[in-house]
Amino acid sequence: MEDEIRTDRKCPHCGQLLEPWMGPPETGWGILLVCNNNQCPLFLDSNNTVAEFNPESKLGFRYAEDPANNYTSFNLATYCGSSYMDMCKK
Ligand SMILES: [Zn+2]
Repeated sequence: MEDEIRTDRKCPHCGQLLEPWMGPPETGWGILLVCNNNQCPLFLDSNNTVAEFNPESKLGFRYAEDPANNYTSFNLATYCGSSYMDMCKK
């Protein structure tokens, strides 16, 4: 795999630099760029939206781009673990 992933990409929702993240092997993804900001408006809103339909859900969505696909943006489903609970539930 080429190691030429850009590191100057920023999240359009919060302005934080996107961080490289290796997708789970079963997804077939390579390195993705992900917004890891727990205060990101997209992330906070996503969990509120999910919670409306399923209060037990700890899923949220983070902004992500796929370097292997011309930096196409998409919403990466992510699990809000216990350490994120306080931030997911505002
Ligand atoms: Zn963000």
